[in-house]
Amino acid sequence: MASIIYDKHNYKFFLLDTLLLLTNSNTNQPLYIRLLDVIENDILPKTRKGVAAGNKVFGAAILNSADLSLVIAGMNQEIINPIFHGEIATLNSFYQLSERERQRTNKCIFLSTHEPCSLCLSAITFAGFKTIYYFFAYEDTRNEFNIPHDLDILREVFNIDDGNYKRKNCYWTAHDLGQLIRTSGLIEKKNISVRMARINQEYKKLSKVYQKQKLTRLIPLD
Ligand SMILES: [Zn+2]
Repeated sequence: MASIIYDKHNYKFFLLDTLLLLTNSNTNQPLYIRLLDVIENDILPKTRKGVAAGNKVFGAAILNSADLSLVIAGMNQEIINPIFHGEIATLNSFYQLSERERQRTNKCIFLSTHEPCSLCLSAITFAGFKTIYYFFAYEDTRNEFNIPHDLDILREVFNIDDGNYKRKNCYWTAHDLGQLIRTSGLIEKKNISVRMARINQEYKKLSKVYQKQKLTRLIPLD
C-alpha cells in the first residue's frame, strides 16, 4: 500500500516498496510510467538511428524532477568517439543547452536505459546528479546484450566483483527501474507487463542489428 511522504506544488511523492513514485497530479502519471514513456518515445527513436549508423544500443535522458518534463534525450555515439556512451553523449547535449533551458542537475533525474558503466557513473557524479534510474541491469547487458565490459572493468580495474558498487552513496542513489517494477507488484498490471515486454523486445531487436554489424566498426570494446 502506498503511503504519502511528501505533497507540495501539486505533486505527491509516494513510497511503494522501495520505489519512489512521484505522481504528477495534473496528469496522474506516476514516475515509473513517465520513465517508460521517455524510453519508448524519446530515447528509442534516437537509438534506432544510432544503431543503424553502427552504435551500441545504449541511451539516456535527463528529466526535470519537479514536473517530469524531458530536458534532453540522447544515444550512444561510439562510432564518433569510444567514450561517447549514451550517458556521455546525453550530458554533452545537455551542456550545449543554454543555462535557462537546462535545469540544475540536482533537480533532475538521470535516466539510463542500461545501468551506467564506471565511466558514466563518474561523469554523472561530476555533473552533480542525485538520482539515477536505469532499466536494464549490468547482468542484462552482459547476458542478454553480449556486452560484458561494465562488469569486467569494475572487476579488473576497481577490484569490484559482481558489479557491487554502492548504489546509494553520498552523491546519488541509483535505482534499478526494471527490478523495482517487477518486485513491487506493479508488473501484475497487465499493461505494464506488456510494456516491459515490448521495450525488452525492441532492445533485443536493436542488439541483434548491432552485433551483426559491429565487426565492421572500430570500437575498441565492442
Ligand atoms: Zn558508460
